[in-house]
Amino acid sequence: MLYFDHCASTPPFDEVIQTVSEVMKLQYSNPSSIHQAGVAAEKLVTRAREVMASALQVQPNEILFTSGATESNNLAIQGAAMQKKSRGNHIITTGIEHASVYECCRLLERRGFQVTYLPVDSSGRIRITDLRAAITEQTILVSIMHVNNEVGSIQPIEAIGEVLKEYPRILFHVDGVQGLGKVPVKLHEWGVDLYSISAHKLRGPKGVGVLYCREGVQIQPLFAGGEQERGLRAGTLNVPNNVAMAKAVRMTLERQETAVTKLRELRQHLIQGIDSIPELVLNSSRNLEEGAPHVVHFSYPGMKPEVIIHKLEQHGIVASTQSACSSKDLKPSRVLLAMGCNEARASGGIRISMDAEQSIEDIVKLAEALRIIVKELKPLEKGQHR
Ligand code: PMP
Repeated sequence: MLYFDHCASTPPFDEVIQTVSEVMKLQYSNPSSIHQAGVAAEKLVTRAREVMASALQVQPNEILFTSGATESNNLAIQGAAMQKKSRGNHIITTGIEHASVYECCRLLERRGFQVTYLPVDSSGRIRITDLRAAITEQTILVSIMHVNNEVGSIQPIEAIGEVLKEYPRILFHVDGVQGLGKVPVKLHEWGVDLYSISAHKLRGPKGVGVLYCREGVQIQPLFAGGEQERGLRAGTLNVPNNVAMAKAVRMTLERQETAVTKLRELRQHLIQGIDSIPELVLNSSRNLEEGAPHVVHFSYPGMKPEVIIHKLEQHGIVASTQSACSSKDLKPSRVLLAMGCNEARASGGIRISMDAEQSIEDIVKLAEALRIIVKELKPLEKGQHR
């Protein structure tokens, strides 16, 4: 099988699988227990926290372990909104966020907050002038993703951070899930207050994530319960997954430079392949500064993407339509509509997301399969129009 769905999830490193199983077997005590076995489990979490902190170049006490980025995003956004609601009720985000940010903002709107969804240009990036214009006296939080999970657009996080340095009362949250390991991350330099990541996008286990919460930043917890994670995330820590996540992140960052060079090469080849099939339109940016190296997104306007996905499977190739979290939703992509695509194009998107261990031959096979599939489907094109 040729797996091109790395934005949805990645195969864990062998070392990650081994770590999860060893820690599960040997260190099953509760890290909050005061007996020796508990202390030993707590030591492992402390070490994992240190590894995570050094990978993100932050302090260990700024790392909060969660059950994944959906929780990290909710904790950051709802936690900041609840903490700051006496100072203001306005949140700024974009129209292309992952559902865990977008729906969280919609929920807060139903609870009386006002949310501005910044528009994006045709490459899927916000404009700094729009951000400046959206800030009001009431603004308490700006939440903007680093790399989009559908088309791979890279937001100008550094420039956004520069603007927000003029407004120290506004918290800055970044959903970093698709960016870490693919694009440079400088949380302190960019003035990021809250930053979410997920282990399973970085060859770690599922069901574990981190929220970086800058020292001094106050947020409210989502759950009532124990005092774990500075009282901000109640619940027994998932020791095997915390340790394995730290390992996956460290290994990913050690490989980042070579991985990015390789991914850029693969991406270039794939874009050439897509350009050579006239029915397909590229949605990802060609510009290396604007588009993440592991994602290529394109549409076959007028063709249901599910048909292409199933045809690709017959060639032994796995890809996806929109993001995994929205792929069963047959509506046009909210992200592509926000980028100004018409309905046919926004309904016909295919996402190819790659790993640096894949090869040019894999890309050649994918492009060849696409060529054959488009040829087969061409006569049906009209009938498939929505
Ligand atoms: N944000 C982005 C950009 C994502 O791609 C995802 C995963 N699809 C999430 C958040 C949610 O992460 P998790 O699966 O850990 O809940």
